[in-house]
Amino acid sequence: MPEASRQLVAQINLSALRQNLKRVRDYVSAAQIFAVVKADAYGHGLKRILPALDEVDGLALMELPAAIELREANYTRRILLLEGFFRVGELKEFSQYRIATVVHNHEQLQMLEKTKLEKPLEVFLSVNTGMNRLGIKPHETKAFCERLSALPAVAALRLMTHLARAETKEGSAEALARFESACAGLSYPRSIANSAGVLRFRTVGGDIVRPGLMIYGASPIIDRPARLFGLQPVMSLRSELIAVQDVPEGEYVGYGEVYRTTRPTRIGVVACGYADGYPITARPGTPVQVAGKRATIAGRVSMDMLTVDITDIPEAHPGSPVLLWGDGLPVDDVARWSGLIPYQLLCAIAPRVKFVTTEIGRVHFDL
Ligand SMILES: *Cc1c(COP(=O)(O)O)cnc(C)c1O
Repeated sequence: MPEASRQLVAQINLSALRQNLKRVRDYVSAAQIFAVVKADAYGHGLKRILPALDEVDGLALMELPAAIELREANYTRRILLLEGFFRVGELKEFSQYRIATVVHNHEQLQMLEKTKLEKPLEVFLSVNTGMNRLGIKPHETKAFCERLSALPAVAALRLMTHLARAETKEGSAEALARFESACAGLSYPRSIANSAGVLRFRTVGGDIVRPGLMIYGASPIIDRPARLFGLQPVMSLRSELIAVQDVPEGEYVGYGEVYRTTRPTRIGVVACGYADGYPITARPGTPVQVAGKRATIAGRVSMDMLTVDITDIPEAHPGSPVLLWGDGLPVDDVARWSGLIPYQLLCAIAPRVKFVTTEIGRVHFDL
């Protein structure tokens, strides 16, 4: 392939990912860690980050084809599908590829009861403790356990719940109490914590944790910067200035009448727009780093470009490096200015963006 001439890259730092997984380990001491890698590892590229996941006990995701690809790439540790299976026919693949499943409703239980599998499955029984999305009712837990544990298709059973408000004591107390009473007397291993739950592991607890966002170095808690938890950004979205405009006072910049200069302003034009995954909702004032200094969005983000006020960065010129988010500019900040959450920005990187992978002491070649 010819070299991309547009200098927009998503740089993936595997050393940061390893560091973040160490932080998870610090929080959860001996609990097993299932790294959540749904949505192509939150937009980072599952295959790309796989080498940095060799210390975790397993991977959790939504997509069966991606799980099968992991096996075909010789991933040998455990794999959990968080929505489980949808049709009885899929169970053969779960068995063949040794994929653990969530069971969250009656229909799945009945399918398991009707099926014969070559190799039985590890099953995570999901209990609805207040998210009201997936999961059986707490009072059904015992009966489900009895039926599941009696099945030849079930090799091992775990109890699981997903917290809707894991980030605070007040938000999670009720759900934790419901889970506790649903599981009373049942000795199966438990899985409760997502990233926010990991950060509050002493309260949330469990035998198996399921961190997602935090392993990518973003904060699952609004207004608590990721660096507070010792997390480092894995993805840095980088580009460069492709033009500079000297704009007089009182002129509009970009489409519409979103932004008008209030002083003679130097506007830097960045090769990155909403067709690359940058949020169109980024308001004027959203931070962008230009030549290592903080600048701000000026004018509406367009399809291929965005404009920044670089009046106070006189050394900036076409070719100057630009950081949209990542190492030195938390994705959480860009999300907040855009009225979004960091999950959404990371997952939205468009196919036309080139990726490069870096890791201290190792060489990676990106396709
Ligand atoms: C996505 C997901 C997680 C990970 O959540 P984060 O907030 O990214 O840590 C954990 N458990 C389940 C069931 C999920 O769907």
